[in-house]
Amino acid sequence: KIDDRLDPLFSKGCKNVALEAQMHLRMNATFVILARNSDLDGVISSIKSLEKHFNRHFNYPYTFLNDDPFDQKFMDTVRKYTAADIEFGEIGKDMFGFPDNIEVPMYQEAIADQGDRGIMYGDAESYHHMCRFFSGFFYKHPLLLKYQWYWRVEPDVTFTCDIPYDPFYYMQKHGKIYGYVIAIKELEDTVPSLFRYSSAYRRTKQLTSGLWNFFLESPDSEVKSEEKVVDANNVEYESSSFKSQLDSKMKTLYFEETSNMDGEAYNMCHFWSNFEIASFDFFRNEKYEDFFQTMDRTGGFWTERWGDAPFHSLAAGLFLKESEVHYFRDFGYRHSDIYHCGQDLGCNCECLPEFPEIEFAEGGCFRQWAKVVGDGLL
Ligand code: GDP
Ligand code: MN
Repeated sequence: KIDDRLDPLFSKGCKNVALEAQMHLRMNATFVILARNSDLDGVISSIKSLEKHFNRHFNYPYTFLNDDPFDQKFMDTVRKYTAADIEFGEIGKDMFGFPDNIEVPMYQEAIADQGDRGIMYGDAESYHHMCRFFSGFFYKHPLLLKYQWYWRVEPDVTFTCDIPYDPFYYMQKHGKIYGYVIAIKELEDTVPSLFRYSSAYRRTKQLTSGLWNFFLESPDSEVKSEEKVVDANNVEYESSSFKSQLDSKMKTLYFEETSNMDGEAYNMCHFWSNFEIASFDFFRNEKYEDFFQTMDRTGGFWTERWGDAPFHSLAAGLFLKESEVHYFRDFGYRHSDIYHCGQDLGCNCECLPEFPEIEFAEGGCFRQWAKVVGDGLL
């Protein structure tokens, strides 16, 4: 019997993958890849790695999404790298862009301002749209409605171990809803209010869940003094009057109280969402939808640069039990220069010496995870 307080690995080392692939029915699952036509090379590189280490045995279909139509070259080229079924879909303006009912120029100004302040991707309007799409829309895309499970893949990722078993099947078998491979700390200036609003939402709705603790700065850790934002000319920024106006409205409109944090502070940990294996059930329900709608109305996807990774993560903190989240510690995975090597736990891992392991690194959140989920993991 599995102790549901712990998060055991689904598999250690290698397995007979041909046998694994035959042992149970294929799951109702797809890869989801959001990409632009210009991402073609990175997409091919990701597919090659994924096919080599996993999908040539399991043959799960791919769903490609884009806010522009995919061009013929993109589609023809991608088809050469997998025998699996592929669907290419467009994302409507209702899911990727500013909604009709908001004052767009004001938000564009807020976005430009984030560029002035040097916030990563802060002034990239399309990046804001992308994060909002993954936070509140992708699971409602018509091409994805038929699936129960997805595995998110991005251009330019590398898998460095063989994956000799079906992660969807094992997630279902073990009652898992959300799976990650890298947990790291977010850049604070991209999400100044995200945690405070989420925390207020949690109190308002009287949610109580174990996983929330994963995101809390431990009480004994040093409390950071308020950092002032200073631009290149050493001019201190005041928060825009627009934003403070919004902030005072939050209390009356959406949450009971946002300033009372009950002594809680965000430790910036989040599951890195460029890799996710999860059940759409996590998103497709009234609770998640209400959380998204409420948070969306605060304007935070534009006035700040909320990533879908901390957004999904804090939602998991609100709605999931700790036992429902799985760390694929046996997977080897790299995106940009952030990297986890599944060495000793995975199958045929070829670690990449040029990239440092994230697990125990300064910006990693493994200790927090182990603390919340239990020592059984270590
Ligand atoms: P990073 O990993 O945070 O540096 O961000 P990326 O540039 O890799 O973007 C994240 C994902 O969203 C990738 O799969 C991109 O291909 C995709 N993406 C980002 N912006 C856009 C966009 O404007 N249109 C489309 N179609 N995809 C985008
Ligand atoms: Mn990326």
